[in-house]
Amino acid sequence: MEMENLVSLCKRRGFLFQSSEIYGGLNGFWDYGPLGVELKRNIKDAWWRDMVTGHDDMVPAAGAPRVYEMEGLDCSIIMHPQVWKCSGHYDLFHDMMQTCRHCKKLYRADHVPDMLKRSAWVESFAKVFSAGVSDERIDYSSPDALRWAKDRKRGRRLAPGLALVRNPEATLAGLDADLQAEPEMVLSLPRVLEYVATEQKDSTGLQVPCPECGGDLTEPRDFNLMFETYTGAIQSPENKAFLRPETAQGIFVNFKNVVDSTRVKIPFGIAQIGKSFRNEITPRNYTFRSREFEQMEIEFFCHPDESQEWYRYWRDRRLRWYEELGLASERLQLREHETDELSHYSTGTADIEYAFPFLPDGEFGELEGVAHRGDFDLRSHMEGKLDEKSNPLQVQLDEDGKPKWRGSGKDLTYFDADGFEQAKERLGVKSFKAYMEGRSGESKPGYPYQFTPHVIEPSAGADRATLAFLCEAFHEDEQPDDKGKMQKRTVLKLHPRIAPIKCAVFPLVKKDGMPEVAKEIYRAMKAQFNVFYDEKGAVGRRYRRQDEAGTPFCVTVDGDTLTDKTVTIRDRDSLEQRRVSIDDCLAEIQASVE
Ligand code: ATP
Repeated sequence: MEMENLVSLCKRRGFLFQSSEIYGGLNGFWDYGPLGVELKRNIKDAWWRDMVTGHDDMVPAAGAPRVYEMEGLDCSIIMHPQVWKCSGHYDLFHDMMQTCRHCKKLYRADHVPDMLKRSAWVESFAKVFSAGVSDERIDYSSPDALRWAKDRKRGRRLAPGLALVRNPEATLAGLDADLQAEPEMVLSLPRVLEYVATEQKDSTGLQVPCPECGGDLTEPRDFNLMFETYTGAIQSPENKAFLRPETAQGIFVNFKNVVDSTRVKIPFGIAQIGKSFRNEITPRNYTFRSREFEQMEIEFFCHPDESQEWYRYWRDRRLRWYEELGLASERLQLREHETDELSHYSTGTADIEYAFPFLPDGEFGELEGVAHRGDFDLRSHMEGKLDEKSNPLQVQLDEDGKPKWRGSGKDLTYFDADGFEQAKERLGVKSFKAYMEGRSGESKPGYPYQFTPHVIEPSAGADRATLAFLCEAFHEDEQPDDKGKMQKRTVLKLHPRIAPIKCAVFPLVKKDGMPEVAKEIYRAMKAQFNVFYDEKGAVGRRYRRQDEAGTPFCVTVDGDTLTDKTVTIRDRDSLEQRRVSIDDCLAEIQASVE
């Protein structure tokens, strides 16, 4: 599938627009059009229903270690600045950033090697040595490099910022001198790229070229991804606040409120859907990496002894959710992080990834991360920001030995009142006292009743999910038109639950009472789900428009409808048309879109 075909469909049919497009757009920001807003909302609704409101608190869900409860939350985007200090975002939410000295483009340092591999000028340069873009050794020759650099259609057009193009003789002199001094030097393409980006190796060292224009990049510099703002009239440091870079922290700081205001008992989860903001250095790949996006996050609180089991449950449950809504398993994968990628307080993290078509073959992009976070977050908000490198975890101290970022000082532990009462009853007052004091002789004294819960965090992106569903649904095929002539068709095979429009209703022709009946059906359906009425143009054309919008069913009223109260239902994917009674048609469509 060509990504540009999907992008053009999304624009043409109103799924996605560039933000502020009439002013030239704003990089990293996107607007969902009339069809896009329905699709994204349906995805968020499906998530909320499947994870929260539809969750049965009374029987263990398939694969769950035992029953659990779910609650929801909707927190403010701007929170107390201390939240971000204790969460670690203030200190740690940095990316290393490089700027091109020539074209001023900004890059995330860890993205540059990959971007170079996909750069037009690098590809053209590699061809000079009959090489592909890889890390392998190449048969380098300076005269060939020089010819490429001076060529108006190659070097001069594709890489105007490259040292080799701007000052070929001086640039090549550096490489030639090194080759003379060390004839055995292995020249891979990445190494040659550094040489041809460097005019004065002695003073600057080897440079990294810009994937866009070839200009040299600055050293990687720290860059905080949080958007800053001010609360109140005065823009003073005390009034500085941040737009949240994730929704999770709002859940942690409300943990106590939720426990106290509901009768929820551990294990339970709190879910939230909402906007997050990250000043990404290189927003790209359509909505995949945006600066404003929406997250769908769960913080699941459980007893430390059970956290491994719950981690496995959530990892598998979340993967299944994407599959159930139509993401094909060969393009979807679960990638467990290696132990050396994990922080020591976490016993597992897995990414649910999708092979987005804009990625090179065999590469996957993150849709959702499922992380075992231990008690890091609740303890940091209680005691002060913990030092993630300390083991066991301790509060991070400043130069004076004081907590670097003070916590709230509020008690965020959990008291298991039921367990406490049951043990008291089971043991009797005297032995219970001994048991609590560790004198009971029981090999494992059950649960301690007061503890800081451990947390499992399934954290998904609504925009990335929307993009993945769109990519998966996009198909082009050929189908006969009204006259039997084969025509190219674009179809979005979206799962009926998330399709923006569930059904379209057409009168076959605009006369003989057909529009009246069709409008009645439209109104009956409208009360239940999103439906579209269309009476304009040939019926084949109307079908085609609905295929592009991803509408799973089209209902057509024809001459027979007026006598026998039946209509045809056309299925978007199989193209099968069946006659059913009007009543059955309503019930059938309702059942498959829920
Ligand atoms: P990446 O490594 O791709 O930047 P991340 O690991 O920083 O992602 P998390 O902090 O785990 O992402 O955020 C959870 C989810 O939020 C991601 O799996 C993704 O779906 C979504 N998300 C994060 N950053 C962005 C973004 N810039 N644009 C769109 N969605 C995002």
